[in-house]
Amino acid sequence: GGNSMKKDFPLLTNIDIAYLDNASTTQKPKQVIQAIVDFYENSNANVHRGIYNLSQKASLMYAEAHETVAKFIGANEDEIIFTKGTTDSINILAQSLKKTLKEGDEIVISEMEHHSNIIPWQQVAKEVGARLKYIPITDKFELDMDKAKKLINKKTKIVSVVHMSNTLGTINPIKELTELAHKFGAVIIIDGAQSVPHMPIDVRGLDCDFLAFSGHKMVGPTGIGVLYGKRARLEKLDPSVFGGGMIKEVTKEAATWADLPEKFEAGTPAIAQAIGLAEAIRYLENIGMKKVFVHGQKLTKYAQEQLSQIEGIEIFGPEENRGSMIAFNVKGIHPHDVSEILNQKGVAVRAGNHCTMPLHNRFELQGSTRASFYIYNTEEDIDRLAKGIRTAKEILK
Ligand code: PMP
Repeated sequence: GGNSMKKDFPLLTNIDIAYLDNASTTQKPKQVIQAIVDFYENSNANVHRGIYNLSQKASLMYAEAHETVAKFIGANEDEIIFTKGTTDSINILAQSLKKTLKEGDEIVISEMEHHSNIIPWQQVAKEVGARLKYIPITDKFELDMDKAKKLINKKTKIVSVVHMSNTLGTINPIKELTELAHKFGAVIIIDGAQSVPHMPIDVRGLDCDFLAFSGHKMVGPTGIGVLYGKRARLEKLDPSVFGGGMIKEVTKEAATWADLPEKFEAGTPAIAQAIGLAEAIRYLENIGMKKVFVHGQKLTKYAQEQLSQIEGIEIFGPEENRGSMIAFNVKGIHPHDVSEILNQKGVAVRAGNHCTMPLHNRFELQGSTRASFYIYNTEEDIDRLAKGIRTAKEILK
């Protein structure tokens, strides 16, 4: 249950809060905080460089972090590139893949993408003269797969789609999209920022070419994220960030690249954060990702039940097969005002467009309020949310 877990999270003990903004970032358990402190107090040195013991220890711990992440998603450790986060992963990839594109090529994304899976492709498309196409969303808040089957064709070079929408909670049919992309020889990228923290992920099963996610949304620290890529894809791909640590040999004129994953990890990496992320994964594995998923499903169902009883509330997202969040609007009240009253009641939610402006435009919405849940949340948190919304209605009517 959620309650017994709360004691692991110092912030949730120190502050009286119903923290329901987990899709933005999650709180950190003491185990993760302690792993970072331990690293700085007992193991801190740069990696890959020193012959001395301390540097070798840090290097080993950093390599083990790659291994832990790899096992977590069913990959090989040389297929795990540490980045700053999902945004960084997609940008790095977009810059590298840009070199494989030519004028008239097509990139397919969807109407429910986070801005970080839209703007890098807009920029790349502009630079090379490629066309950016959007898989539309049905009135049931799902990808229109019939349209997707027409949009993805022999002109398509890249398909990049969110696994779990950070606004609607929709879980997209990745396997089907992967098969579709591969049928036409296109590369498929999955934005796993919301799915990796909430469900068991097996990249071999999904058969995606790339997967991007962030540590801070899965009880890990900020400043660390992952770009997974199939080894064969990564080996063929040129890096897009250059400097120390990513080379084999350098002359005045040229350089050769280091092996994977170093080739894509130029500069001193976020060592402590990588070690913190590995600890976060151990924390989640200890619970079990199936349990994490079920807990999110239960809370979301409960929130749907409780919130739908409030008059004038409109809930977005599919009825079933959805992730651990709920976006809504209260008739006649601006989302910012709802969240301000909730704030006064100690309930932290997100208001606005949640970095999904094209999605909000699709449904002709200015914005919405989003409550998103994680392992430590309870039905009491949701009761507090429902009560806060009722109060907001009374005050603002
Ligand atoms: N994609 C999705 C679906 C997200 O929810 C987020 C974070 N809100 C991102 C990408 C970007 O993640 P980050 O800010 O950690 O780079």
